[in-house]
Amino acid sequence: MEPIIILITILSITASAEYVSYKDYKVIEVLPKSEKDVKVLNDLKFSDSQFDYYVWSEVVSVNRKVKIMVEPKKQATLQNYLSTVGLEGEMIIEDVQSLIDQQMQRPAMLSNSSEYNWQYYQSMEEIAEWMEKIASQYSDVATIVTAGSSNQGHVIKGIKIDFKKKENPVIGMIESGLHAREWITPATATWMINEFLTSSNTEIRNLAENVVWHIFPVLNPDGYKYTFTDDRMWRKNRNTKNHVSCSQYNLSDDMSNGVDLNRNFGFLWMVIGASQNPCAQTYAGPAAFSEPEARAIANYVLGLQKEGNLVYYLALHSYSQMILVPYSHLGGEDVLQLPNYGDLYEMSIRGAAKLKERHNTTYTVGTSLDILYPVTGSGFDWVKGEANVPIVLLYELRDVGQYGFLLPAHEIIPNNEEFMDSLVEIDRVARTLNYYQSSANVFSISSLLITLTILSMIVY
Ligand SMILES: [Zn+2]
Repeated sequence: MEPIIILITILSITASAEYVSYKDYKVIEVLPKSEKDVKVLNDLKFSDSQFDYYVWSEVVSVNRKVKIMVEPKKQATLQNYLSTVGLEGEMIIEDVQSLIDQQMQRPAMLSNSSEYNWQYYQSMEEIAEWMEKIASQYSDVATIVTAGSSNQGHVIKGIKIDFKKKENPVIGMIESGLHAREWITPATATWMINEFLTSSNTEIRNLAENVVWHIFPVLNPDGYKYTFTDDRMWRKNRNTKNHVSCSQYNLSDDMSNGVDLNRNFGFLWMVIGASQNPCAQTYAGPAAFSEPEARAIANYVLGLQKEGNLVYYLALHSYSQMILVPYSHLGGEDVLQLPNYGDLYEMSIRGAAKLKERHNTTYTVGTSLDILYPVTGSGFDWVKGEANVPIVLLYELRDVGQYGFLLPAHEIIPNNEEFMDSLVEIDRVARTLNYYQSSANVFSISSLLITLTILSMIVY
């Protein structure tokens, strides 16, 4: 038998003079052995220091390896700094650009085909085109919906999937692609759309048909596009209104041309885990809801609540393999008093256990404060705290930092399969707990407790 030769072509990218190359950027791995080491690394990560941009690891804790990406010319400075604070750095990736190039590769036999697939990462245009196509193919149940437009005028497009056309239906919304470089998330959201429309699996069919789904694969279209054309590691939206010089942080001034959409929502905006420095990755914007993309999501959520019983809001991010329960600034003990927190925890733990059965992938469950870092102003916390949607969860998808945002394309499908398994399980638990019934009464109490929590935060 002749060997099968798979030809690889590099995705052709629109030529751009400003394309940021990560050629010869290194990744240095450090093992914090004490709380003191953790503090040193967290200072690097969260200060607006010159290294702010480069700490890959989302979680910094004792005996958990931390990855720091560094420009070739700053490698020596970083290594020296680490040794002066008693930390040892080991180089584990010699050329980050080669990983990016690998992620951009497409097998020729697939890139020439008109068939949409999950074997490589699709661009914004490809996703939009596919959504139009699949919506017209399944026009009896699928409709293109829009949630306003981005800073640069791209329409924020989603798909509504409604099999039963019932009055006052159970509704679910999927938020994906809010952070531009988290490429696995649009690849997961589009997979969901496809499964809901085409799967013959009974459990997936039930989930697809019992809920009216509104799925938005790319909620930050400007940013997502920018990761393909200019800077693969771009996180924020694109907004030049707050432009400043970032030279004092040794960063390109372009770093200030965007707002972190997941810090821009009007729930405890700028209280913790967000920055007022436009050069920072977590720049929260000049005011809550300053950004059209964040406003679009909030308005869409409020609109859905008028159409029926909005039970689910699931936010997709990467990476860390976690299911996060709101609120991101509170620890487990502080949120236990809130109505349905126990239910959210139970759903998430069961969902994570189900997820593990497929490919043995481990997800951890908790609030962001407990297992990641404290944050306010995020989208999913706003949906829980202000819109009072009962089941609000945030997935941090694959991996735990081996490749981080540069997750190889061959992991897309396994990631998606296990995600769907967990979602089916979460829905099973939710139905057992009667979440399909209207829950208006429960949540008036919830609002009161949230108000008390906010007041106590302000006082103390
Ligand atoms: Zn994210």
